Amino acid sequence: MDNPFLDRSFQMPWSQLTADRVGPAIKAALADAEAALARIAARPVGSVNYQNTFLALEQATESLNESWAKVTHLTTVADAAPLRDAHNAMLPKVSACFAKIPLNAEVWLRLKAAASLPAVPALHGEHRRFVDETMADFRQQGADLPAEKKARLEAVQSELAQLTQKYSENVLDATNAWELLVSDPARLAGLPAHAQESARQSALKKGQGTEADPVWRFTLHGPSQEPVMLYAEDAELRRQLWSAAAAVGQEGAQDNRELIRRILALRQEKAALLGQPHFADLVLQRRMAKSGATALAFIEDLHGRVRTAFMRECRELEAFKAEQTKSAPAPLAPWETAFWADRLRRMRYDFDEEQLRPYFPLPGVLAGLFEITGRVFGIRVTERPTGAVEVWHPEVKFYDVHDRAGRHLGSFYTDWHPRESKRGGAWMNYLITGGPVAGGPRAPHLGLMCGNLTPAQGGKPALLTHHEVETVFHEFGHLLHHLLGEVQIKSLNGVNVAWDFVELPSQIMENWCWERASLDLFARHHETGEAIPDPLFQRMIAARNFRSAAATMRQLALARMDLDLHLHATDYEVGELSPKLQTLLRDYLVPTQPPAPTIENRFTHIFSDPTGYAAGYYSYKWAEVLDADAFTRFKREGIFNEQVGRDFVAKVLCRGNSADPMQLFTDFMGRPPDLSALLLRAGLV
Ligand SMILES: [Zn+2]
Repeated sequence: MDNPFLDRSFQMPWSQLTADRVGPAIKAALADAEAALARIAARPVGSVNYQNTFLALEQATESLNESWAKVTHLTTVADAAPLRDAHNAMLPKVSACFAKIPLNAEVWLRLKAAASLPAVPALHGEHRRFVDETMADFRQQGADLPAEKKARLEAVQSELAQLTQKYSENVLDATNAWELLVSDPARLAGLPAHAQESARQSALKKGQGTEADPVWRFTLHGPSQEPVMLYAEDAELRRQLWSAAAAVGQEGAQDNRELIRRILALRQEKAALLGQPHFADLVLQRRMAKSGATALAFIEDLHGRVRTAFMRECRELEAFKAEQTKSAPAPLAPWETAFWADRLRRMRYDFDEEQLRPYFPLPGVLAGLFEITGRVFGIRVTERPTGAVEVWHPEVKFYDVHDRAGRHLGSFYTDWHPRESKRGGAWMNYLITGGPVAGGPRAPHLGLMCGNLTPAQGGKPALLTHHEVETVFHEFGHLLHHLLGEVQIKSLNGVNVAWDFVELPSQIMENWCWERASLDLFARHHETGEAIPDPLFQRMIAARNFRSAAATMRQLALARMDLDLHLHATDYEVGELSPKLQTLLRDYLVPTQPPAPTIENRFTHIFSDPTGYAAGYYSYKWAEVLDADAFTRFKREGIFNEQVGRDFVAKVLCRGNSADPMQLFTDFMGRPPDLSALLLRAGLV
C-alpha cells in the first residue's frame, strides 16, 4: 500500500501524514502484524527454533510500531479534531492487537517449546536476555491464564487504554479552555517584563486589546502561569490562576473523578487476574524495586530523613511572611507559598532566577549542550539547514549525530515552544529504532525532543530560565539513550528499560547545568557575550538547596499518593478521593489555609496511560539516587573526562535493556547504588 504512514524511509514526509491516511495505514499494518503472528502460530512445533519464534515475534510488529509511533507523536504536537478522531478510532484496535499477543495460546506454546531447546541456554548476551524478558512479558500479561480469564484481561486492557486517553484529553481541554484577561496594568506589579510582554502578545493574538490600549492574557500553560505564582504582587491574581489550575480535571465535561475510580478498579482487577495482590506488585515485579513494599519503604525512608528539615522550612516561611506583613505567623494560602518562598530566597541570597535568563538564549544553550556531550561522549551534533528536511511545524529543527569515526548514529527533531495543539511539559520520543543489524551496516536511530519553553519575543532569542535549561539537558539525556543504542533487538534498545532506571541517563545530564566549567561553555549574555559574573554564580549555587526539603517532600507526596492508590485501590472505590488523600499525606503536604486539594484529577503521569508512571512515580527519586551517585565519578575524575564518558556510554547508554539495570549500574560504578550522594547534593545531610 502506498501510504506515507507505512513509508519506512528515514526522512518522514510530514505534510503527507494526514488524518485521513491514519485509518487505512494502521489497518494495513495491523493486518501484516496479525499475518506474521499467524505464521508463528501455525509453525509445526517440531520445527521451532529461536529465529522462527522469538526473533519472528520481534519483527512481527515492527512496521505497526513505526507507523503507530508517527500517529501518536502527531497527536502530541499537532492535536486537531480529525487527527484525534482518526487516532481514537484506531487506538482500541492497536491496543487489542498488542494485548492479544501474549494471550495467543498457539504462539505461547511455540515460544515455550523454543525456550526449552538445548540451544537456548547457549545463547549469549542480549539474545539470552531477550528470551528471558519475552517469557516474563508473556507470563506477566496472562499467557498462562485459562481462556475466559484471558478474554476478561483483554477487555480490561482495552477499556484502560480508552479511559486513560480520555483522562489526558480532559486535562488538555480544561487547561486550554481557561484564560484570564487583565486590563488594569496595576495588577501586573511584580511580574517580570518578559512575562508581561508574553501576556500582552498572547492577548493580541487572540484579538484582545490593541498596541495603544493593551490587554494582558494569562493561561494555565506553564510559561504563563509560573511567573504569576512566583512574582505577582496581586494575591488575587495568583489566587485566580491557582484556583483555575486546581480545578482542572474536576469540572463539567472534563471531570476526571469518575474516570479515576474506574481506572483504579480496572488496574486492581488486572492485578488480581494475574495473581498479584495489587497493581503495584504487578507493575514493579520486573523493575529495580521488585515490589510495591520496597518502593514504599524507599519513600518512607526518605520521608523520615527529610521530615525535620521540611517542618523547619515550613515554619521559617510562615515566620518570614508574618514579619514582612507585620502579622501573626499562620499557615499560608496555597497561592502564597511560591511567592513568599521566592521573596525569602531573594532576601537571603539576593538571588533572582530572572537575572540568569539573559545568559541562557536557547541557541547558545543547545550549542553548549552539544559541545559538552561532544567532549564527554565523543559525539558530534550538526543541524540540517532549514528546508533541507521536512518537519511537522515551521519551528521544528532537525539534527544529525555522528561519532568520532564519522558513523551516523542517528538524528533527531526538536520542537521547543508552546502551541495550543501541543501537549504540555517536555518529553523525548523516538520514531525509528536502528542499531546494529545482523550481517549488515548499523542503521541510524531517529528520535525527537519537545518542550513548552519560553518563546522568543521582542526581537530577542528565546531566553530560558535555569530550570528550562535543565529540562533541555534532561530530555537530551533520554535522546542519547536511544540514539547511542547498540542493541540488535529493537525492543531492548535505549529507553525501553525499567521505569525506575530510565531517568538515570536524563537526570545525570542536569548535573552539567550546575558546574562552573560547563556553564562557562555556553552560559553567555545574549547581548554582551559575557559569562555569568562570579557573584551571581555564587548566589545561584548558594540558593540551589534553598527549601530543598520542601521540593523533595513534594516529590515524595506524589510518590506516596501514587503508591497508596495502587497498593490499596479498594479503599478508593467509593466516595471522594481528595479527603482520603489529604489524610494520607498530612505529614507530606505543606500546611496551608485553606488546605490545597490533591492533584489526582490532573495527575497525567499516572492516569494518562494504561500504566505509564502508575505505581512508578517513586522512580524519579529512585533514579535521582542513581544519578547523584553516578555523577560522583565525573566529579572525582573530571566532568569532561572522556574515559568516564566512554565508560558511561559503554556500560549504560548503549546497552538499553540488554542486561539487568542493577548490573549495568554496578558495571559503571563498581558497586551498587548509595543513597548518600543524593542527600549530600540536596544539602540534607
Ligand atoms: Zn525524564
